[in-house]
Amino acid sequence: FTVPSRAIKIAVIGASGVGKTALVVRFLTRRFIGDYERNAGNLYSREVQVDGEQVTIQVQDTPGAEMTDNGISLPDHVSCSIQWADAVVLVYSVTDRRSFDLIHHTHQLVARAGGAGAPPVILLANKADLLHLRQVDPQQGPLLAQTLGCSFYEVSASEDYSQVHGAFHRLCCQLAKQTPA
Ligand code: GDP
Repeated sequence: FTVPSRAIKIAVIGASGVGKTALVVRFLTRRFIGDYERNAGNLYSREVQVDGEQVTIQVQDTPGAEMTDNGISLPDHVSCSIQWADAVVLVYSVTDRRSFDLIHHTHQLVARAGGAGAPPVILLANKADLLHLRQVDPQQGPLLAQTLGCSFYEVSASEDYSQVHGAFHRLCCQLAKQTPA
């Protein structure tokens, strides 16, 4: 028989269109799929090796905070995926200033929804390949990450597998260390 492998659960949260699905698919399959079915809220799962150990990575692709008439709100299902997750990956697109502006609020909501056991967070700036469409300066991401106390990576789901893989992989290694089998 096979021993079921340990699961590492990651919630990927950010505004619509920032590339959450593209990043998750890129990390788990190495492929960039530019055109796929809209599947926000989907759970992706794959067995990978982390530090020589076979683990199951489960990634939940989750829409982030939304601007509403009453200010900024976090849909209920986002709170559920934060509580479910061992770690949270916050994503904005360097081509979408609004998605960047929402990160700070989303982070506060993550901290609140997670309570005392708030999950570790990393910040990803996606679409770094679209230089001519940039709306968020390269130095703003690291500054925000410093304020939030989390790691930062600027990546491109379409152009660069190694950066995307590196960011997720380091997070998985950190989690594997924190929660021994
Ligand atoms: P989501 O709503 O956050 O899940 O965003 P998607 O993953 O559906 O991506 C939105 C659009 O951006 C799609 O057309 C993707 O092909 C495109 N996209 C995602 N990541 C990148 C990237 O790094 N560079 C470029 N040029 N396009 C990207």
